[in-house]
Amino acid sequence: MRPDEFRRVGHDVVDWVADYMERVESFPVLAAVEPGEIRSRLPAHAPAVGEPWDEILADLDRVVLPGITHWQSPNFFGYFPANSSGPSVLGDLVASGLGVQGMLWATSPACTELETHVLDWLVELLGLPDRFTGNGVIQDSASSATLCAILAARDRVSPTIDRTKLRAYTSTQAHSSVEKGMRVAGLRADQLRLVEVGETYAMRPDALATAIAADVAQGLVPFLVVATVGTTSSAAIDPVADLVPIAGRHGMWVHVDAAYAGAAAVVPHLRALVNAGLEGVDSWCFDPHKWLLTNFDCDVLYVADRGALLSALSVVPEYLRNAASESGAVIDYRDWHVPLGRRFRALKLWFVLRHYGVVGLREHIERHVASARWLAARVDDDERFERIAPTDLSLVCFACTAGDDASERLVHAINASGAAFVTHTRLDSRYVIRVAIGATQTTQRHVERLWDLLQRDRVG
Ligand code: PLP
Repeated sequence: MRPDEFRRVGHDVVDWVADYMERVESFPVLAAVEPGEIRSRLPAHAPAVGEPWDEILADLDRVVLPGITHWQSPNFFGYFPANSSGPSVLGDLVASGLGVQGMLWATSPACTELETHVLDWLVELLGLPDRFTGNGVIQDSASSATLCAILAARDRVSPTIDRTKLRAYTSTQAHSSVEKGMRVAGLRADQLRLVEVGETYAMRPDALATAIAADVAQGLVPFLVVATVGTTSSAAIDPVADLVPIAGRHGMWVHVDAAYAGAAAVVPHLRALVNAGLEGVDSWCFDPHKWLLTNFDCDVLYVADRGALLSALSVVPEYLRNAASESGAVIDYRDWHVPLGRRFRALKLWFVLRHYGVVGLREHIERHVASARWLAARVDDDERFERIAPTDLSLVCFACTAGDDASERLVHAINASGAAFVTHTRLDSRYVIRVAIGATQTTQRHVERLWDLLQRDRVG
């Protein structure tokens, strides 16, 4: 494709995306296709010769859109949000156009230096500990960030220790990526202890201390605590400040998974809630691709001391040797995560921070937190509903007082209507409706409409 053709078609594609952003609210949120239906609209073989662009673009509407669940709909309240935004899409476009591989500083100095710098901005913007400055890296996902923390923590333990004796601790509410990370790190799932939670579904420090003591008494070696700030089921916040001293007594690594909730720290008055205790942790991650207006994929991982991470992940083959790396004056991010190659993801984050500014980002988070509190208050005032977990941020968890069947029917009725999409979880084996407010275009109007739907479709 010649540049002039790219320019012409590119304008059409940007128009298509802009139109999508404008009309996304008009689509039923959930894709209503049967398994195999999308494939059945595709030819059996790849085209022998190139096709005209108007046909390719027409197939976006004909083939692709019917199979899209509209995560960018303002009526999407499922899982956690996956924010997309104009500046972020444009940043991704430029990154693709530049097509650089940022594995080493030398393979594109701007890719590395912009990343380090933008992540330093974020330390300030989120009120994170100073020792994270200069020690941030963009990962593809929180799962990868947690894996890297597990690998670094494992390598910080003396190499003479029998690894089968290592034990890690996380709460029963932690994300499945912690167990997956353990497995990928060559540790057994039963080397991960699931610590009990209290009434608010946050890890109990006393239960952590007891679990560690029991393992130490058996000659096992506690090496890692993974705390969650904003659990997946209910956005519970583990008491990091109370967990750090317990872990510290055993020289354990503390990693904080703030995948969803970390973004809330852009709002100063929410920092006491989400950042408490971070001065004492070894690593912390959050996903701008969830609730900070940055397209997937973009997770940010900070380490307090990069030494263990680099020693776990650095391998230097001859063909990657270069003077800049050997000078020790540069960061080579290939040593900070599992893959070698890396995209220029900092561009989209840079565009987002510059387009919205601190004020715009705060407005985005505060708007959703306010709407969640509004919805929580409606739920509390309605005797046919019962709130099941605190609503500190933008996730509202509740159930029908009539029981699990009623809650489940309500979720199905809302989702079948196409007007909104919500998901569920189980807490204390109870079926719980989750309303995660946080899509880029979601405003109070959409939450009020959801509340109307919940009323109208209420069953039981
Ligand atoms: N950690 C928590 C608390 C999450 O809620 C999620 C996803 O929702 C993840 C980790 C996994 O995120 P990612 O898709 O970035 O790996």
